[in-house]
Amino acid sequence: MSNLSKDLTPRLTGVRNGSKHAGLNPHVCVCERWFFDFARHSQSWYNGTMLKIIIALILIFVALGAMYRYIGVPKIYSEEYAELPTAHSYGDPTRAISEISINAFYFVPQNRAENIVPNWREILENNLQKLQEFHSVQFLGRSRVTYRIYPQPIIGFRDGILYDTEDTGGGNPQALRRVSEEIEKRVFDPKGDLYMTDFDVVQSGTYPVLAIMYEGVGSIGGVIYESKFELAGDIAKALGLPDGSIFIVNVESADGFFLVNKLCLEEQERCEMGGPALFAHEFYHTIGISDEYDGELQTSSDIMGSGRFKRLEETYLNKKTVRKLGL
Ligand SMILES: [Zn+2]
Repeated sequence: MSNLSKDLTPRLTGVRNGSKHAGLNPHVCVCERWFFDFARHSQSWYNGTMLKIIIALILIFVALGAMYRYIGVPKIYSEEYAELPTAHSYGDPTRAISEISINAFYFVPQNRAENIVPNWREILENNLQKLQEFHSVQFLGRSRVTYRIYPQPIIGFRDGILYDTEDTGGGNPQALRRVSEEIEKRVFDPKGDLYMTDFDVVQSGTYPVLAIMYEGVGSIGGVIYESKFELAGDIAKALGLPDGSIFIVNVESADGFFLVNKLCLEEQERCEMGGPALFAHEFYHTIGISDEYDGELQTSSDIMGSGRFKRLEETYLNKKTVRKLGL
């Protein structure tokens, strides 16, 4: 196009600069010839290209027709998903655990108040957070743990021996029973000296759990059942559990509770087993999961068996257990 312009420009200039008609016609004839030549060429190019496009479109439609005839077209079906069953406590579909709310405390017997460390809240929260993450993964998001931490350490009314007794074997169940009853009276009863309205509210539809970081020995957890029986032996028989595993407690604010020695939560190395894996192991007793070991015999490699000695990130809940939890 630029070559044509160069050729045409002097001729057209000549027309403008000459007299009105002088030399006009011959120049116009040259231009017209060029124009008609160009138009003729353009027309044949246009016709050729259009023909190719039309042939290409015909081939495409023939190909689509063949595909429709011999292959068919995808059909989309919509189908209702079967509703997933609700996660529940171990072997008990009547106790939903889709939402678990933990009320967490740092409890210190009166004669051990000097052992309180300034970062106690950080230690407790670190264990709660790791439990929350682990639980979410193990339950595929079908059960959620939330927590709140009572804002100050609770200094007990009594000295350590009166919570622990002489026998702290079996994880120190007496401390769990006595400490949780004291927390119940002081924090959850409106007449209690540490009563707080925030901690009074148990949201409906949640499974409430009491978590105790204890300034003393112990690591134990369990479910709290309502029972029409008064004697531990009768309750054990009704629940199909061994006699020694039943303790009668007066705790209304929780359906499950657990207690762990603070030293074991500070650093894993401080105890034979410890840290967030121990915290989570005891927590899982609060929804009814039993130990997977008997003395030295480990019956599972998961967190309820030998996995409790590992870091929490390296362990899991086994398939047999999660099936009993509605997963
Ligand atoms: Zn255990």
